[in-house]
This record gives sequence, C-alpha cells and structure tokens, in this order.
Amino acid sequence: MKQLYCSLFGHDYTVTKNVTYHVKEYTCKHCKEQVTTNGNGKLTLLTPKYKEINTVLERIHNNRLKKKNIPVIDLSESPLFRIAK
Ligand SMILES: [Zn+2]
Repeated sequence: MKQLYCSLFGHDYTVTKNVTYHVKEYTCKHCKEQVTTNGNGKLTLLTPKYKEINTVLERIHNNRLKKKNIPVIDLSESPLFRIAK
C-alpha cells in the first residue's frame, strides 16, 4: 500500500543526512526509499556505491570545515588593504 501511495503521489522525501552543502541523503516518509544527490545535482537511489562516495565526500567536507576554523590573518590592517581602499 505504501508503495502504491508513492507511485500515485510521488515520494515524500525528508533529509536524513547532510553530506556537503550540495549533497544530501533523503528518505521517503512512506516507503523508506533512500536517495541522494548525484554529481549532476539530481536525485538517485542511494546504492552502496553512492553511500561510499558520500562517506568520502563527507570526510573531505568536514576536513575543509576544520581548516576554515584555523584563525585567518586579518588583512584589514595590512598596508596593501589600505591602498585598495
Ligand atoms: Zn516513497
């Protein structure tokens, strides 16, 4: 019955995991089908292969976030920046 609902009305996906800003994993509220955003920005079935890709993407993404937290040198006090103003 749940499957029928989806074939009639379409899947009702909710985000179950944020992999990166652009890639997310979704699960259908009705049939529990799992999908993810693929390289083209379209939804595709979350196969073991895609799960693997997402794990790697997530790791890279988290590493980037960590790097962003490293204090950045404030350039506003540098002479170059003042000239630019
Ligand atoms: Zn569904």
